[in-house]
This record gives sequence, C-alpha cells and structure tokens, in this order.
Amino acid sequence: MHKDIATPARTREILEKYGFSFKKSLGQNFLIDTNILRRIVDHAELTETSAVIEIGPGIGALTEQLAKRSKKVMAFEIDQRLLPILEDTLSPYENVTIVHQDILKADVQSRIDEILKGFEDIMVVANLPYYVTTPIIMKLLEEKLPIRGIVGMLQKEVADRISAKPGTKEYGSLSIAVQYYTKAETVMIVPKTVFIPQPNVDSAVIRLTLRENPAVAVKDESFFFQVTRASFAQRRKTILNNLTSQLPGGKEKKEGIQAALKKAGIEETRRGETLSIEEFGALSDALYELFK
Ligand code: SAM
Repeated sequence: MHKDIATPARTREILEKYGFSFKKSLGQNFLIDTNILRRIVDHAELTETSAVIEIGPGIGALTEQLAKRSKKVMAFEIDQRLLPILEDTLSPYENVTIVHQDILKADVQSRIDEILKGFEDIMVVANLPYYVTTPIIMKLLEEKLPIRGIVGMLQKEVADRISAKPGTKEYGSLSIAVQYYTKAETVMIVPKTVFIPQPNVDSAVIRLTLRENPAVAVKDESFFFQVTRASFAQRRKTILNNLTSQLPGGKEKKEGIQAALKKAGIEETRRGETLSIEEFGALSDALYELFK
C-alpha cells in the first residue's frame, strides 16, 4: 500500500521531487489532512456507481479519495505544470481522467457527454481556487448541468453569504442566486492548518443540492435576478429607493413600481435583505410588464 497523497510528509516529498512552486494567482492551497478529505467526500454521499467532477486537482490529494469512493472522476486542472505530477501520483487509479482546461472556459456539458457518458449520478466535489469561487459555482448552476449537487471548500465568508437566510447581514443577491437553484448548507468549518500554504482567510465546506425545480417559478429568470441585484444595490436604502434608482428608467416609473410592490404584498419601506426568495419572485413578476 502506498501512503496517501494528503499527508504533510508525502506532499512535501512530491513537491520537492518536481521542484513545484505554488502560484498564488491560481489559488493553490493544497490539502494535507486525509481526515478532512474523507469528511468532505462523506458529504458528497457517493456510491460505487457515482461519477465525480473535480475542479483543480492540484497534486491529487482530493482526487485520490474520490477515486477510491466513486466509479469515475473527471478533474479540470488549469496549471500545465501539475499534469506530469498527477500522472505520477494518481497512477494507481485507473478511473481518473484529467482535463487540462480552465473550468470557466470549458464546455462542461460536452466533457460530461464524452467522459461521463451513461452516469446517472454526478456530483461536483472540489477544494475550489478562492479567486474564482463565485464564478465557478454560478457557471455550474446556470449551465443547468446534469449534476446532483456540489460539495465545495471555499472561503468561509462566501459560504456564509451563499447559505444566508433573509434578515441576516450576509443575505444578498448571491444567496438568492444560489438558493434559487439549490438547497444550500454549510457543513464544515475548516482550520487554516490543513492547507499548504495556509490561506489568509478562514475556510468552510458547503453542500449545494440541486432542486428539481427552482425555488420559485418566475416569468423571466434573468429579470428576476436583475430585480434581486437592484434591490441590494445599496443595503441601507429601502426596496422602493433601490428599484427606482437601479432599474432602467426606474425614476420615471416610480408609481408603477409602487403599484407592483403593493400587488406583491411588500411594504415599500422594507429593505431588500428582509425579502424571501418567494417575495422576490412575486415582485419580479409584478414588475415584469412595466419593464419588458
Ligand atoms: N484539490 C487540490 C487539493 O485539495 O489539495 C488543490 C486545490 S487548490 C485550492 C485549487 C486548484 O485549482 C489548483 O490546483 C489550481 O491550479 C486549480 N485552478 C485554479 N484556477 C483554475 C481554473 N480556472 N480551472 C481549473 N483549475 C483551476
């Protein structure tokens, strides 16, 4: 039996063997704690028929645990220098395919059709590069990929915003964007000491479980998101003030906006952060005719 990749000693050995230097600009903070990795994988609830999409395998610490616990792993890695290392460290596992691509530019659906063809259960599991956490999560959700969910390590501050409930200071358009598509929970808080190098911020693991249908049915999704972003533009302002100042031609349409708020049953003096996702749905539908 070989040693797990995710131990301080083996990680150091691999980094030295290849003279690898971390690129901060690529969010390279590798995990060196096998227990934490196993717990992350537990949250994905994989079975022997599951497939996994990983983003940023690094030197393969998480990839190895995923390979042991699923049928197939497809991992996107942007850094070419890691490819020969991964080939070496993951050589015991035949069920891993590394795709050398920037996840944000990748045609993920085509890669699924090609590499994960026939899989009914696909999970995304990743220790995400923190400089692009939000764009990656939004891309995976907006592209409506055939995935069951996402288990991801990210900055605790972003995890808090994603899983925030109405009425809290973390609640905002990101909470709504993610909760529209998924049920979001923070499942672990992770200390800095399990990474090399240690990141500057605290970390957490979130689990996003895709909903069968969006949290609320709306006439027009992109208008719904436009209305939520507008409502949070200036947090201290009332919903009426934000909508009139942020929506195109809003100032001239103030009376119409007031009527729409009334129709949706929302007091115009409330603040965006107090509205539930259902209320934003009712509001964007009530405003729809006025702006479309
Ligand atoms: N999975 C490894 C682990 O847990 O030890 C490494 C995680 S590290 C936080 C993030 C990884 O994502 C790095 O390997 C980095 O090179 C890679 N990466 C950064 N930006 C990327 C992108 N846009 N597309 C794909 N991979 C990316």
